[in-house]
Amino acid sequence: MENPVTYIEVAVPLPVFNTYTYAVPESMRALIAPGLQVLVPFGRRKLIGYILGPGSADGIPKIREIIDVLDESAVFPAAMLPFFQWMAAYYLHPIGEVICEALPGGISKKKKAVTGPKTERYAAPIPDAVVAAPLTEARQAVMDALTSGGGMAVRELAKIVPSAHRQVQALADKGLVVVSDRPVYRDPFGDPVPPDVPHKLNPEQYRAVSTVVGAMGAGFAVFLLAGVTGSGKTEVYMQAAAEAVRRDTAVLVLVPEIALVSETERRFRARFGDDVAVLHSGLSAGERYDQWVRIRCGQSRVVIGARSAIFAPLTDIGLIIVDEEHDTSYKQESRFRYNARDMAVVRARQAGAVVLLGSATPSVQSVYNVLSGKFCELNLKRRIHRQAMPEIHIEDLRKQKESRGIWRFITPALHLAMKETLERGEQVLLFLNRRGYATWPVCAGCGQAVKCRHCDVTLILHQGAGVYKCHQCGYAIKSNVACATCGSNAIKRLGMGTEKIEHAVKALFPEARVARMDRDTVARKGALLEILKGLRHREIDVLIGTQMVAKGHDFPGITLVGIICADLSLSFPDFRAGELTFQVLAQVAGRAGRGDRPGRVVLQTYNPEHFTIAAARDQDFMTFYRQEIGFRQTFQYPPFARMIQLKISGRDPEKTREFAENVGALCRKLQGRATGPHGTGPLGNKTALAGSDLSEQVEILGPIEAPLSRIAGQYRWQILLKSTRSDQLHRLARQLIFDNGAAISSRHVSLAVDVDPFFMM
Ligand SMILES: [Zn+2]
Ligand SMILES: [Zn+2]
Repeated sequence: MENPVTYIEVAVPLPVFNTYTYAVPESMRALIAPGLQVLVPFGRRKLIGYILGPGSADGIPKIREIIDVLDESAVFPAAMLPFFQWMAAYYLHPIGEVICEALPGGISKKKKAVTGPKTERYAAPIPDAVVAAPLTEARQAVMDALTSGGGMAVRELAKIVPSAHRQVQALADKGLVVVSDRPVYRDPFGDPVPPDVPHKLNPEQYRAVSTVVGAMGAGFAVFLLAGVTGSGKTEVYMQAAAEAVRRDTAVLVLVPEIALVSETERRFRARFGDDVAVLHSGLSAGERYDQWVRIRCGQSRVVIGARSAIFAPLTDIGLIIVDEEHDTSYKQESRFRYNARDMAVVRARQAGAVVLLGSATPSVQSVYNVLSGKFCELNLKRRIHRQAMPEIHIEDLRKQKESRGIWRFITPALHLAMKETLERGEQVLLFLNRRGYATWPVCAGCGQAVKCRHCDVTLILHQGAGVYKCHQCGYAIKSNVACATCGSNAIKRLGMGTEKIEHAVKALFPEARVARMDRDTVARKGALLEILKGLRHREIDVLIGTQMVAKGHDFPGITLVGIICADLSLSFPDFRAGELTFQVLAQVAGRAGRGDRPGRVVLQTYNPEHFTIAAARDQDFMTFYRQEIGFRQTFQYPPFARMIQLKISGRDPEKTREFAENVGALCRKLQGRATGPHGTGPLGNKTALAGSDLSEQVEILGPIEAPLSRIAGQYRWQILLKSTRSDQLHRLARQLIFDNGAAISSRHVSLAVDVDPFFMM
C-alpha cells in the first residue's frame, strides 16, 4: 500500500453516537481497509469495531492502538458506508449499532459456517467419449439413461439402476461420465423446485415490464406497481429482474416476513436457480453466513429476503423490488427501528437504481407519492387467468344481537354459504384476527375482567391449553382460578377468538375436517407446513385463521372466505387503523377463487356504512384513499406531516412519569429556542420563515401514558413530535438526543426514538 494509514475511524456497537480514532501499529497497516472488523480497547473492555475510513488525530491527546484486524476482506463493501451513515443520521441511531444490525450473526461472532447449501450428486455423459471395451449390463443401462437425458441426478438414476451410485463412479474412472455436486432447491413441502421459463406477458404486464426496463441505467426512479390479487405481479418482477441481471447489475427483492418461504421466493428460485441468495429469519446462523458470503463475493446476483435483506452486501444494485410494499413487517419494532421499504428507496437513490414497489393494496403513503409526482404508477387491473374478482357480500352483525351464542357470529348467510361450499367439495376460509377462545373473560359476580398481573390488558382464555394467557408478555395462569377481586368461580367467557370459532364450526359441521392456523397452532416446528400441505391435498375443508392466512400463500381450492368480524382493528387508537383494516380485508378477500372456480366472500361487520368497509367490499382502493387522505390532511397526519415518537418505559411508575415530564419540558424548551424570535438554523432564511409560520413548527404532543400503559411490568409513556417540515423535526430531535445526553439518560428509565412510527400503542 502506498500511503499506509496511521489512524482509522472506528464505529463500535454500543449506544454511543461518537465514532473513535485509533492508531494502527506498523505491522497491520497494510491490512487496513474500510468495512473490516478490528478488535479495539474500549475503556477497560475489548470490543469488535468496524473501520469506517481514515481517522484524524487532530485534537485528541492520547490515541490507543487497535489490537487486531479480524478479517482478510471487508465484511461489507465500503460502498455501503454512506447507506449506514444515512440510516444512522435519519433514525438517530448509533452507527456502530446500525452496522451490527446489518451483519449476519455468524459474521460478527466469527463463527464458521456449519451448513452449506444442499447439494446432490449429478452425472452427465462426456460427449464423444470412446468406449474401449463392452460395458456390463448395469453400466450400459446407466449410460443409456444418461445419454437420452443429457445428464441426471444420481438419486434419480438409482430408481432405474439400483446400483447406480457404484456404476457412475466406475464410469467416471473410465472417463465416460463426469460427476459433480449440484445445489438442489426444494420448496417447503420438500419437493424439488422445477425450473421455470419466462411466461408470455399480457399487454398490461408487458407495459409494466418495458416501462421499468426503459428506466434502467438512467438513474434513480421509483415505480409503484398496483396490481389486484392474482394479476401476475411476480412475473413482472422476474422479467424486470432478468433484464437487470443481463445488464450485469444486481437485484434485491424484499418480501414480507412470513413463517414459511413465500410464493415469490419459490418462483424466483425456479426462474433464477443458482443466481439466487436468500436471507430471512428462517435460516440458521450458518446458513445466513453462507448466503452472505455468496452475495459478498458476487456469486449471487439476485438476493431475496425479508426486512433485514435491505442490508445485503451488494455493490452494483440496478433494481430493488419490494413485494407487498404496504406490509407492516417491513418496519422493525425493536432495537434499531427502521423501515426497510423506505430504506429500499434510499439505497436505490444512493446507487442510482430503479425501485419497483408492488402491492394489491398499496400504502396510503406510496399512493400519495404517486399523486404528488415522486413515484410513477403502473397498473395491473386484470387477473392473469381472467378469473373474476370474488363477489363480496356484506352481513350486518347488528341484526344478530338477539341471537344466542355462536349465532351472533355465524350469520345465516355465512352458515348457508359454508354449507353450499362444503357440499360441492370446496374449501372454506374463516378469518378472525384474534386468537384464543374467549378474548374477554369477565367475572359474573363483580363484573371485573380477568387481567394480567404485569400488563394493562385483559387475559385471553385458551381453552385447549387450559390457561388464561397474556398476549403482551406471555404470563399465564390456570383457567380454573377464581376471580381475583371477589373470589367468585363464575367467569363468563365473553369475546370471540379463533379457538371458539373452531369449536363452533366443528359442532355445526361435524363431518367437516377443520383446522386452525394462528400463532398458537403453528408454534410447534413443522405444524404450519402440515396445515398448508393439508390444504393443498384437500385434507382440510375449513381453515380458521388470523392475519397469518392473508399473507403470501396461494390456496387454489378455497372458494368461500368468511370474515367473522371486520371491525376489530377499526377502533385501534392509531391513525393508520382504517388503512390497516382495508388492507387486511382486501388481502383476505383476495384468497377466494384463485383457482379455476369463482370465489365469494361473506364480510360480517357492525359498521356496514363505514367507508373503509364499503371500499373493501367494492375492492376500490381509490375510493378508500380519497376519504382517508382527507382525514389525514385535516388532522395533519402522515403523509402531510412527519412524526418522531419518543417511547419511554421504566419499572417504577413515579420515576417513569417524572422522566417523561422532564423530557417533555426539555422538548418544549428546545422548540422555543428553535422557532423563537432569536432562532437561527442551518437553513438561514428558510428557518426564520418557518419560525413565523405556526403550521411549520414542530408540534409536541404529550407526554401521555401509552394506550397500553404497562407491558411486562414496564410503565409506558409517549411523546409525539410532529411537523410538516422534516428538517425542523429532525433538528429538534437531534438537539434533544445529542446535546442533552445527561438529561435524557437514566438508570431507571429508558428512552427509545422511533422515527416514522407505526406501532403507536
Ligand atoms: Zn369477581
Ligand atoms: Zn402481560
